[in-house]
Amino acid sequence: MDIQRLISDRARAIDASGIRRIFDLGARLTNPINLSIGQPDFPVPEPIKRAAIRAIETDCNGYTPTQGVAPLLAKVTHWLKTDLGWDAQPAGGAGEGQPSALITTGTSGALSLAFAALLNPGNEAIIPDPYFVAYPHLCALAGARAVLCDTGDDLRMTAARVEPLITERTKLVLLNSPSNPCGVVSTPEECRDLLELCRAKGVLLISDEIYDEFTYPEFALDRAAGDASLARCPSPARLPGACDDVLLIRGFGKTYACTGWRLGYCAGPSALIAQMAKIQQYTFVCAPSALQHGAAECFGVDMSDQVHEYQRRRDYVVGRLAPLTDVPTPGGAFYAFPKVPARLGLSDAEFVERCVDRNVLIIPGSVFSTRTDRVRISYATSMDRLEEGLDVICELMS
Ligand code: PMP
Repeated sequence: MDIQRLISDRARAIDASGIRRIFDLGARLTNPINLSIGQPDFPVPEPIKRAAIRAIETDCNGYTPTQGVAPLLAKVTHWLKTDLGWDAQPAGGAGEGQPSALITTGTSGALSLAFAALLNPGNEAIIPDPYFVAYPHLCALAGARAVLCDTGDDLRMTAARVEPLITERTKLVLLNSPSNPCGVVSTPEECRDLLELCRAKGVLLISDEIYDEFTYPEFALDRAAGDASLARCPSPARLPGACDDVLLIRGFGKTYACTGWRLGYCAGPSALIAQMAKIQQYTFVCAPSALQHGAAECFGVDMSDQVHEYQRRRDYVVGRLAPLTDVPTPGGAFYAFPKVPARLGLSDAEFVERCVDRNVLIIPGSVFSTRTDRVRISYATSMDRLEEGLDVICELMS
């Protein structure tokens, strides 16, 4: 059979070659200094592991309600109240004007459902450039077009940069703060201006906050006494009435090092969450059952030591790179996004090749962007390995 003839245009429209090339490069190296990784290097905290194991052993292994298991939803809605002042209810249970919450299969699940629920063929979604690799492809899968917002040399997605891109085809603007790959954290003013713009234009603001707990103190909001969060990341979701106009997407994978558990959640206008829950029912069905019970323990676990350790690594990386090149100080997440110094006369891919020749794996910026002048360095790796990697990178940048 000619399988190629049967493949959809939708599938063909996805070009995964950029990121695949990096995986291929990594596979060729023996014990590389891998600074390409997008997940934390610490283990899942014990109480969270225990709760998941307990759930398996007590036979919590079947389907769950599509909106999520009650104990996790209770923790999530409580947290939305504490952190944002939102009175969210589990999907299907919200009253008139109340926001809803839905447990999803990773933040990717929430993004896919949101795009499926919002985008028609021909619609446009405005995303930052540089962007998390999946964004344009998830738009394409929904038949829509990702419109890239050039975030300039400071890598900031501002209302002034977004406004000229909004057309009658625009359905949503996607903000990612702290950002992958740049580590940029939006200021409260930037969040406010973006939300005001979206409201004025009648488009939804989606806030992908998967790295929210990795917001370093100089870029975070002050915490209230007794606040259980590690850091309060500036967010459009904190603005008055935001739950009517913002779809908030957060995850568990990065904060608690359980990326493979495929767990996230979203909250926002109940009419939208209802559509997303309906689509989840017939696609993902529900998030992994036992692991949802594990995640219900997350909110009681203190991760501040891990985040402080990442802050220490960030300071180390920026301290090494700043004398050699332009590197915005990451306000959050665990990536640095320095420029390849122009004096080297190398593209990002050429610079990465030189690093790979020295057994160091980093990612060319062009995997995340139309620009070719930066590279992404993940510092989610041990300090020893980081030092070895930075020795090579700094030598090549000198
Ligand atoms: N958004 C951003 C900005 C990310 O960096 C990632 C993962 N790297 C995701 C979403 C997807 O996360 P998940 O594993 O929870 O689907």
